[in-house]
Amino acid sequence: MTERTGGCLCGQVRYRLGADPVSVRICWCRDCQHLSSNGTVNAIVDSASIEVMGSPAAYTSTSDSGNRVTRRFCPACGSHLLADSTGRPGLTVVRVGTLDDASSVRPTANIWSASAPDWACLDGSLDRVEGQPMPPSPSR
Ligand SMILES: [Zn+2]
Ligand SMILES: [Zn+2]
Repeated sequence: MTERTGGCLCGQVRYRLGADPVSVRICWCRDCQHLSSNGTVNAIVDSASIEVMGSPAAYTSTSDSGNRVTRRFCPACGSHLLADSTGRPGLTVVRVGTLDDASSVRPTANIWSASAPDWACLDGSLDRVEGQPMPPSPSR
């Protein structure tokens, strides 16, 4: 296992991952496009293995899949760090761009690709799912 750390742009919120991701994917749902102006790159990690330092703010909404998604972000600089969904209890999404070493993980799929804008660069060598993928299962 590789221990990974990350945090927001201003450094007020930091986190440490005590487990390897069970999946890494690029999400093109419209909610993610609002957060990032692009697809979001997401590592899905066992929630219990994540230690958060600092006090992120949270925003909950109903996603295109119908799940309730709670996103945690820095109240000072606005960086989105983590997201939990009622569709995958026990697993948390980590926004890969906030990792100190974003090259330490590699996405394997584009999801919600049907919602991507027509200029989006989707790597043809990755799996592609037009909408909601099957939930990954926890590694333990
Ligand atoms: Zn911040
Ligand atoms: Zn999304």
